[in-house]
Amino acid sequence: MRTGWLWHEIYAWHDTGNAAGYLSGPGLQPFRHFESPESKARLASLVEVSGMLEHLTRVTATPASEQDLLRVHTDEHVESMRRQSEDPRGGDMGDGLSPFAQGGYDIARWAAGGTISAIKAVVTGEVDNAYALVRPPGHHARPDTGMGFCMFANIAIGIEYARQNLGVGRVAVVDWDVHHGNGTEACFENDPEVLTISLHQNGNFPADTGKVEHRGTGDGFGAAINIPLPAGSGDGAYQYALEHVVAPALRRFAPDLIIVACGFDSSNADPLGKMLLTSTSYSAMTNTMMELAEELCEGKLVISHEGGYSPVYVPFCGLAVLETLSGQRSGINDPYAATWDALPDQALAPAQKALVDRVATLVDEVPSPATSTLSTGA
Ligand code: ZN
Repeated sequence: MRTGWLWHEIYAWHDTGNAAGYLSGPGLQPFRHFESPESKARLASLVEVSGMLEHLTRVTATPASEQDLLRVHTDEHVESMRRQSEDPRGGDMGDGLSPFAQGGYDIARWAAGGTISAIKAVVTGEVDNAYALVRPPGHHARPDTGMGFCMFANIAIGIEYARQNLGVGRVAVVDWDVHHGNGTEACFENDPEVLTISLHQNGNFPADTGKVEHRGTGDGFGAAINIPLPAGSGDGAYQYALEHVVAPALRRFAPDLIIVACGFDSSNADPLGKMLLTSTSYSAMTNTMMELAEELCEGKLVISHEGGYSPVYVPFCGLAVLETLSGQRSGINDPYAATWDALPDQALAPAQKALVDRVATLVDEVPSPATSTLSTGA
């Protein structure tokens, strides 16, 4: 398996400054922002030190052009980011929680461009699958604003590039970041040709999106699926959701390309999530996505990095995903996995099963290539 690997040192130069997590103010001793370079940069370090890098095919990042950004975002949002980025004091992506230093606009263009490059490498057959370790993340960014530490919608920008330039038609996005992929969903809410499936912690962030009944609008109705799992969900819940919702939805939708919005903040170690996943779970989920990609779209699978805020644990999760994608072992084992895999709450619980079973009833309304033809009157 030729697995593409994309990382650029400039992603670690995106500076979110000091905060006590994501807040600052009276009573809060200044600390690092949760979305610091550490977790991603340390994943890149482990990929090198473990020897995994030797098994991967380097994919080169280039910055997204303004035209690439404007296929998804409004002029006003792009212009606001560019202008704030020139200010020596930096700016904010849109929600007051997502700061960036001077030059942040350019780094975010490198992040969107990285996802484009990974998609291009997979679609053109340069590699079989690919992992884009990009930063800042993208899945919360909506057409008209950034939020949740995301300036631009990296995956949506990559999809629009691929549809415009690479002859790609139907794309499915599976988002296992602990937060709802509200931005990706918003970019395609009217679009029956892009299926977005988000598995996330119910009500975590954003508080008011990602509910079961949010299913896309207009022609895009049915092409958004939300699986808002209860806090405390573990491996059993995620595997059950993949088997009973993700797999049948993808089979019905029949994508040309599958993209995973890969956040490791659904791990047991994350300060912003309350889920229990381990590197073992991410490896198993990657394997399931590879099998679905093999069955449905000649194996075309791109993983684009989103959140994940444990600098200690994210590297092991990322390494496990890369080992699975490439079929190669790095020789470094996750020292936490054995203890955390044995947590009793890793097993599927009744409330989790009930939620997934409820979402599973919506799969029949996912647009299939046949229904799309009918709806356009062809
Ligand atoms: Zn997240």
